[in-house]
Amino acid sequence: MAASDVQSLAGEISKLIGADHVCTGETARQRYPGDQSWLTAIHAHHGKPLNQPDVVAAPGTTAEVAGIVAAAARMRIPITPLGGASGVQGAANANCGGLQLDLTRLDRVREIDTTSMTCTVEAGKNVSVFEKELNERGLSFTHYPASAEWATVGGSVAARGSGVLSTRYGNIQDHVLSLEVVLPDGGVVDLPSVPRHGVGPEMTQLFVGSEGTLGVVTAVRVKLRKLPVSRRFSVFRFPGLAEGIEAGRVIMTSGLRPAVMRLYDTAAATKSLERAVQAGLDGETMVLMVDGDHERLVEIEGTLCDEICIAHGGRPLSADIGRTWWERRYAFYHPPHAPELPQIWCTMDAVSDFTRIQALYDEVTRGIRESIEPRWGLTLKTHLSHWFEWGAMIYPRFIVPRGPDDLDEALALHDRIITAAVEGALRAGGVINDHHGVGMRLAPHLEAQFGAAGMKLMRGIKNGIDPDHLFCPGKLSMG
Ligand SMILES: Cc1cc2nc3c(=O)[nH]c(=O)nc-3n(C[C@H](O)[C@H](O)[C@H](O)COP(=O)(O)OP(=O)(O)OC[C@H]3O[C@@H](n4cnc5c(N)ncnc54)[C@H](O)[C@@H]3O)c2cc1C
Repeated sequence: MAASDVQSLAGEISKLIGADHVCTGETARQRYPGDQSWLTAIHAHHGKPLNQPDVVAAPGTTAEVAGIVAAAARMRIPITPLGGASGVQGAANANCGGLQLDLTRLDRVREIDTTSMTCTVEAGKNVSVFEKELNERGLSFTHYPASAEWATVGGSVAARGSGVLSTRYGNIQDHVLSLEVVLPDGGVVDLPSVPRHGVGPEMTQLFVGSEGTLGVVTAVRVKLRKLPVSRRFSVFRFPGLAEGIEAGRVIMTSGLRPAVMRLYDTAAATKSLERAVQAGLDGETMVLMVDGDHERLVEIEGTLCDEICIAHGGRPLSADIGRTWWERRYAFYHPPHAPELPQIWCTMDAVSDFTRIQALYDEVTRGIRESIEPRWGLTLKTHLSHWFEWGAMIYPRFIVPRGPDDLDEALALHDRIITAAVEGALRAGGVINDHHGVGMRLAPHLEAQFGAAGMKLMRGIKNGIDPDHLFCPGKLSMG
């Protein structure tokens, strides 16, 4: 942006929200280094940061967001919404410069309705703080991403996220009942808030997963649950991954709904789970947790799940492993378990129906392995953690211990691995990504996923809502 435009926009926004909530230039870039993706980390390491906002504004109300968006739209300035910056695909980076909207001051709980068991919460609310506040009232959001300490409710919606209890309680699209959104022209839309309706297409879901490309989510009505009275754990060692997958399939297709069903392949069990739960494991391992409001029902559902696992060759291990996993469930994502430079890392979570799930695992993990020359080394650990009535997801996490020192060579190696994994998923009839979104990392692969007609449809929606392409230009391959 030209210096005069920066001054003029910052001046106009300061009048709306106060100068304390606006910063520009180097101050803005220092304060907002970008998201948690490897792409962001490696670019910053080489002195080429991806997050390049000219102005950052932190509005505190929906009206302020609307006023700021209208001002930026009049000046034709690109806008990037920012939640907790915990994304792992580079989506929240203002890589085209312009205005970044820090939404974390929009953090009020507007209404808790214990009759309908819903809550209207502002988009910048931190997920972990929200959950703790609800827990104090015996309630729960039940959306438990491993990034809960950083992520916002709005960011979870925008990235179409998933939490560790999704198998029973659903992914974010199931938690979200309706939205308040500031559109790219500064207009505010408050979408219908009823259990279902027949008045045209469901517009709320259009914004779930839109990654900031269609406007700013300012408030979300979400489903609430009571905190469960009972949690029952069990753990099984399977003779192979196929037997574990089949047990999971039978559990899901017979109507049982464990809150947690995590099946670790041998590498994930022995190199990751084992360290976190501090127990010796030597092969494919499943951690199960059943919870609910009725102790007797929990016992019956847990027993039925156990019987299915045993019928598929599962050997029961100590339930304490499951309890320790629950207590340390986020430890995997924090030091010393979290990857850091000079490593190259990424999670290529992918999803398919049950018919293709084994092929998805085989093709994606083979693609990743074959794309890396032996001299670079590779750790690849995969688990299945989000199960659905008719399919499941795989969570392969790769780490290259030390990539090339040259930025372009490191990016080329990284892209080669990503491309191989995406191609593997497509060959198997699956989709990458399950819950981490698209961002800068997967944008080049969207057309392979949706085809020309699918991209035309997506671009048509974008053109209708944001004709000047001001919101997150270039993201989701939407021009
Ligand atoms: C260690 C670690 C573990 C993780 N575990 C999980 C996990 O278990 N499950 C999971 O789903 N994800 C996980 N993630 C990824 C990440 O935390 C999620 O994608 C999260 O939903 C992002 O929320 P955020 O508030 O940080 O969004 P940001 O990273 O700030 O933004 C993400 C995207 O949403 C857009 N956006 C943000 N807020 C709004 C808004 N109010 N309106 C419109 N657009 C908006 C941004 O422009 C960007 O495109 C993990 C990340 C890390 C680093």
